[in-house]
Amino acid sequence: MKKTIYLLPGDGIGQEIMAEAVKVLDWMQGRGLVSFEMHEGLIGGTAYDQTGTPLPEPTVTAAKAADAVLLGAVGGTKWESLDYAVRPERGLLGIRKALDLYCNLRPAQVFPQLANASTLKAEVVSGIDIMVVRELSSGIYFGEPRGVETLPDGRQKGLNSLVYYTDEIQRVARRAFEIARKRQKRLCSVDKANVLECTELWRKTVTAMAPDYPDVALSHMYVDNAAMQLIRNPRQFDVILTTNMFGDILSDEASMLTGSIGMLPSASLGEQSALYEPIHGSAPDIAGQGVANPLAMILSVAMMFRYTLELPALADRIERAVHRVLDQGLRTADIWEEGMTRIGTVAMGDAVVAALHD
Ligand code: NAD
Repeated sequence: MKKTIYLLPGDGIGQEIMAEAVKVLDWMQGRGLVSFEMHEGLIGGTAYDQTGTPLPEPTVTAAKAADAVLLGAVGGTKWESLDYAVRPERGLLGIRKALDLYCNLRPAQVFPQLANASTLKAEVVSGIDIMVVRELSSGIYFGEPRGVETLPDGRQKGLNSLVYYTDEIQRVARRAFEIARKRQKRLCSVDKANVLECTELWRKTVTAMAPDYPDVALSHMYVDNAAMQLIRNPRQFDVILTTNMFGDILSDEASMLTGSIGMLPSASLGEQSALYEPIHGSAPDIAGQGVANPLAMILSVAMMFRYTLELPALADRIERAVHRVLDQGLRTADIWEEGMTRIGTVAMGDAVVAALHD
């Protein structure tokens, strides 16, 4: 049966970079290398403007039916004064929850051509190849009770709850062990077990699973130390497994080691669904100018070929094309340096397509 890919460009540069990803998909399909249906839907501020909600019901239905969802980005200054319940970012949290995407994969890899883009010394970051596995559908971002209430004495109280059940820990840990198995076989689970009981449970649960993966070396690290070690000696890490909030912060830190937010893809996996998106947001400061870097979006397509469509050769082909384009000295503004050729979003997409040949 034909696979279905559901496209959600979203807001701001999401629209611009999605158009370049579609060029790559069209090229693959045009060459008969793969066959799928593509549909497009609404999410984020654009969805709010047209339907009054950042996550319309038809979007959820179509996303659930698709084999994979490709998402651009959501958000923008235009919607910042809206109530939290209908902010574009709610659409993103909502679709992750609706698809039960509990496992977020964020690779942080340094492209040798861009080693100077990092704010850290090239000798510290060169060769970095880290996969952050972040629990995505539970933890403090979803825990109940939550909210802000006004007390009888007039003070306000803000509350969020860090909650994990063993099965929620086990399913994401299983993915992390399996990914580590296919890499350098080192898994570092990050928690704050010395202070938070909930993450003490996390540590115990992950430790209890280790005997099932005797080929993987499991270690544990407190989150404050992990934040420091990522800067001090990032090459010590292979796969990092952590909770939703710690993963949010550490994966941003890890990605910044590479120096370029416009280069990094991500995958969010559930049992039935998968969503692929660049790690960056909708970049309202450059939206509409044709200068956004589409490579994170295009590399998200590569991840989709690897993890959902199970066509690793096509994933390799896209990644090879990106390397070729960088070797040619072509750069969007965010990764440009002296001596390189500065090009815009569309030209970068065209260059990748031109480099997709064998
Ligand atoms: P951002 O990632 O949109 O932008 C941060 C900086 O990086 C900006 O200077 C931007 O121009 C630059 N940048 C990002 N992607 C780029 C690309 N592909 N090419 C070139 N430059 C790029 O983060 P922000 O400014 O904090 O947030 C802007 C909006 O995006 C907010 O509404 C926020 O809520 C939303 N957001 C959405 C997502 C998502 O959809 N997954 C993630 C983060 C932020």
